[in-house]
Amino acid sequence: MRRRTGIELKSAEQIRRMRVAGLIVGRTLAAVREAARPGVTTAELDAVAREHIAAAGATSSFLGYGGGFGLPPFPAVTCISVNSVIVHGIPGDRVLVDGDLVSVDFGVHKDGWHGDSAVTIGIGELSEAAAALSETTRQAMWAGIAAARIGGRIGDIGHAVETSIRAHKKGYGIVAEYTGHGIGSEMHQPPDVPNLGRRGRGELLTKGICLAIEPMVTIGSAETATLDDEWTVMTRDGSLAAHWEHTIAVTPAGVWVLTAEDGGEAELAARGVKFGPLGD
Ligand code: MG
Ligand code: MG
Repeated sequence: MRRRTGIELKSAEQIRRMRVAGLIVGRTLAAVREAARPGVTTAELDAVAREHIAAAGATSSFLGYGGGFGLPPFPAVTCISVNSVIVHGIPGDRVLVDGDLVSVDFGVHKDGWHGDSAVTIGIGELSEAAAALSETTRQAMWAGIAAARIGGRIGDIGHAVETSIRAHKKGYGIVAEYTGHGIGSEMHQPPDVPNLGRRGRGELLTKGICLAIEPMVTIGSAETATLDDEWTVMTRDGSLAAHWEHTIAVTPAGVWVLTAEDGGEAELAARGVKFGPLGD
């Protein structure tokens, strides 16, 4: 495998393997979404994901993560972040109630290749403000994905994410301390993929680059605070947060969204961007 500036470039065969992991991630998140309703605990949602990992013969990318570099090993297979929790929430006995805004972040590796994706789910009836925040974040993720192309730059993605969010003129906070990332034989690899940026800046996007694009957006300030558990990241002002993420491969044919059931075809077509599968 070729490396340039620490970036792992994948062969077509390796990207096909990442698609296998990505589909497990996407289908598991669909099952978690199905199970998410008032009265269910976040630990119960984590259990749904665990069952899917086992059935797929995959391995969690999250369970035990962090132990190697001084953090308490992450104790679950999902990060479940409710309302003012932005990311890295630990599943537990929190009972979901009507109106909760819940982001679920999930990753597996299969045959050595990782997939990483997050969705934000509304429990029961969401407030208009919460629904708008989640939809804006989701649209920003797709704007970022649609901005990725061979010959482009990492900054093109951050610029597209930021511009998409700012266009709503709602004064949302864009969390800068946490970013997307390269992904492949490890979950987190170079380069960082910031959710703010300038077009034409940053690392060159070349054939075989695989990235996780993951905007985190708040209704208020983008300032964060980490709880004593060393994982849970909250908005400092207590405002609501949303998080959406997909893993993509940039191929000569276009963009292939490895963690989306349809490979991203529908959302990319809606944005006039080439869908670039290598074939399943
Ligand atoms: Mg993730
Ligand atoms: Mg990620």
